[in-house]
Amino acid sequence: MSAYDVAIVGGGPAGLAAAERTMAAGLSTCIVDEQQRPGGQILRQPPATFAVAGWLDGAPYRQARALLARVAADKALHWRGGVSVLGIAPEADGFVLSLSDGCEGLRDVRARRVLVAGGCYDMPVALPGWTLPGVMSAGAVQTLVKAQQVLPGQRIVLFGTHPLMIVLAQQIVAAGGRVDAVCFAQPFAVIAKAALAHLARALWTPTPLLAAAAGLAALRRSGVPVRFGAPVVRCEGSDQGVMRVVIAGTHGEEALACDVAAQCYGFLPQADLVRQIGARVRWSGPAGGWEAVHDDAMRASVPGLYVAGETTGVAGSDAAMAEGALAGIGMARDAGALGEPAAQRAMRQVRRARARMQGFIDLLRAVADPCAFLPEAAGETLLCRCEDVSAGAVDAAIADAGHLGQAYGASAIKLRCRAGMGLCQGRSCEHALIRRIAAARGSAERDVAGFRARFPARAVSIADMLDGPA
Ligand SMILES: Cc1cc2nc3c(=O)[nH]c(=O)nc-3n(C[C@H](O)[C@H](O)[C@H](O)COP(=O)(O)OP(=O)(O)OC[C@H]3O[C@@H](n4cnc5c(N)ncnc54)[C@H](O)[C@@H]3O)c2cc1C
Repeated sequence: MSAYDVAIVGGGPAGLAAAERTMAAGLSTCIVDEQQRPGGQILRQPPATFAVAGWLDGAPYRQARALLARVAADKALHWRGGVSVLGIAPEADGFVLSLSDGCEGLRDVRARRVLVAGGCYDMPVALPGWTLPGVMSAGAVQTLVKAQQVLPGQRIVLFGTHPLMIVLAQQIVAAGGRVDAVCFAQPFAVIAKAALAHLARALWTPTPLLAAAAGLAALRRSGVPVRFGAPVVRCEGSDQGVMRVVIAGTHGEEALACDVAAQCYGFLPQADLVRQIGARVRWSGPAGGWEAVHDDAMRASVPGLYVAGETTGVAGSDAAMAEGALAGIGMARDAGALGEPAAQRAMRQVRRARARMQGFIDLLRAVADPCAFLPEAAGETLLCRCEDVSAGAVDAAIADAGHLGQAYGASAIKLRCRAGMGLCQGRSCEHALIRRIAAARGSAERDVAGFRARFPARAVSIADMLDGPA
């Protein structure tokens, strides 16, 4: 079993920024990540054997790429790629991380301090036809394009509420693909009103706003239709795959032909490990999911545990880097490797930069807010894809639990109908259950208890279980 001063879950912008600070302070640092190579979601790297010219060379990626290059070149870094952290448990002098190590069996890592910087994941949204082959999350399409250099189809439609669709459409076009439409469910007036409310503060960091405007203009030049007030209500096709999406417009329904339909309603913080160890989380507004609660040095509510990046709320890679740096400085200070005055100086600088980003973050959250635009899932539409539980069955379970008043949460519904009991541990359907329970109870989503998070955070292979702990 290896022992480190610091173990970091997640080698994205947050984890890398933290590692840079802890290594600079002389702390032994290990990063564990499910991806083979560092970079996280925004810098998802192609396999080392691929040669990709001009990979993510745009201005929005520059700072994160420079960080990646610095940290990856540091010989002091212990990188464990292609490995999932299944659980974190406290012990007398720190923590034990249980790792899935593929065919080598379960391996544990010990560390005095642990940072969870697990990022976020696409929010899956159930609508009729969403289980057809070819209906994907925008993130999955992006992963294929960015990391594998593969286009998943010939005619791609993007739909949802999140502006990441603009970035993705550009990446598909640049890779030689065809985007038949980008369909924002919100009318343009709703987006403009939400943006205007935050514009003045967002202009403190104008780069992402300029990038969004340039992206829209580039799509227009490429002939990609970007539509507003175009909510997709269902996907249609056969067992062979999706053939069209159907939009409900003011003048009736309209079908758009496609062979890939990618949905993008937003992202959920990845806080499963934080919840498993019993650290405090709160409902993440407005899009949903559970974000880790922390103090101003990124300390979670469990001593020795730190959190940073989108595990604490979806806010973009610049914020993730700033929070990672804060966590790294905080861990170095708490470990006695950095003096209090130096730590305070460094933290003040990072906090100032992080505060300037808040205006854009608020603007993006307001613009992308999916709550009023989520498509209807009813009757036979599957809500839990792992256990094949329909929206109708979930609603019946909620009605059955109605006599419990305000006292039941997602776990009570799981026990009644198996939603959330499958391989993904509820990562896909928990947010949908919580929204439905809140609507039925007439309460706020933040007041509905989520599933009890349990070990393991990821599916474990039979080979891992047979080999047992190292
Ligand atoms: C699919 C997807 C695509 C995105 N694309 C963009 C984009 O193009 N542009 C943009 O501005 N923003 C994008 N984002 C948002 C982006 O995630 C962030 O802004 C930024 O990458 C956040 O940095 P982070 O360090 O918090 O998390 P991430 O970059 O997500 O890094 C977290 C890392 O933790 C690892 N991890 C999580 N759980 C475990 C575990 N249990 N065991 C081991 N490893 C684990 C993950 O593999 C990941 O590499 C995307 C988000 C997603 C989900």
